[in-house]
Amino acid sequence: MRIGVLGLQGDYLEHHQVLRRLGVETVDVRLPQHLEGVDGLIIPGGESTTIGALAERYGLMDPLRRMAEAGKPIWGTCAGMIFLAKDVGRPQPTLGLMDIRVRRNAFGRQIDSFEVDLEIPALARLGDPRPFHAVFIRAPLIEAVGPGVEVLARLEDGSIVAAQQGHLLATAFHPELTEDTRFHRYFLELVRQVARG
Ligand code: GLN
Repeated sequence: MRIGVLGLQGDYLEHHQVLRRLGVETVDVRLPQHLEGVDGLIIPGGESTTIGALAERYGLMDPLRRMAEAGKPIWGTCAGMIFLAKDVGRPQPTLGLMDIRVRRNAFGRQIDSFEVDLEIPALARLGDPRPFHAVFIRAPLIEAVGPGVEVLARLEDGSIVAAQQGHLLATAFHPELTEDTRFHRYFLELVRQVARG
């Protein structure tokens, strides 16, 4: 199994590190040809307008959409989640793959970074039902999801912060910044399922 990490901007190195710790081969994706032979892709956090502008400049928009159409799993964290979304409420380049409406910088300036323990029932399937310690950094939230989208996690006030649409995964927070590898393992399981057919 080979996992690509979109390496245009943001905290892609941390994702490579987690994946390698899990024994997975990783590829730094900066150009369309780097997607060859990749079974799944992670889009890191960072700054979504920059990631979008660079993806356009390097001709990655259509190859990434084709990858999704081919059924290969893609996971966006934070800015990566914004980049996957259909509706961002403002004009900026996004892949428009996930039927979610996101609000950028949803938590305002005072508390634009915080950490919280989340109940994520989907992760309990990995045999470890403990809450997931989630790190939010100028995070977006998901304001609405379409019919084909499963909500994976909410904050106490009901805000949606993780969702899945078949082979597409989105988290408003940064699992790559903690020692807890369950979200990465959950994604790898998705990749394995698709590869098995
Ligand atoms: N605020 C950033 C954006 O709107 C996302 C922040 C992050 O990825 N940590 O793109």
